[in-house]
Amino acid sequence: MSLAEAHRVSTRPVACGCGRDAVESFGESKGPTMRWWAAIRCDHCGATCEADGGDALPADMRARFIADFGSVGIAIRGGPIPEIMRRLRALLDLEMPAALALKRQLPGPVLTGSTHGEAERIRAALVDIAEVTIVPDEPA
Ligand SMILES: [Zn+2]
Repeated sequence: MSLAEAHRVSTRPVACGCGRDAVESFGESKGPTMRWWAAIRCDHCGATCEADGGDALPADMRARFIADFGSVGIAIRGGPIPEIMRRLRALLDLEMPAALALKRQLPGPVLTGSTHGEAERIRAALVDIAEVTIVPDEPA
């Protein structure tokens, strides 16, 4: 994990049991499956809580994360297209119409609007058979 990735952490206020606002920090974890972590710390009563999430970031956290750090697309060049598509379908649970639409966009960038962690996961799944580049999306 690079320094930049290690420091890619969003924060937001959350209500604490003591009646004041605590601070929730959260970010993406690298791994074979998409994971995330969150930690809550209340400076008023000292309460702390940590959690590791499975699968994808919850939608509200994901939206905040993209607002803070931007979204990316994935450019995929070279490699055997059938195998690339097989892996992408398995990884992303794509239905056939979505898979065909994605295939028409290759070499990409495809899957724009992804978080950095999602893009890293896709790169890891394809890096042995294709050239995969993570491309920042144009600001909306
Ligand atoms: Zn508190």
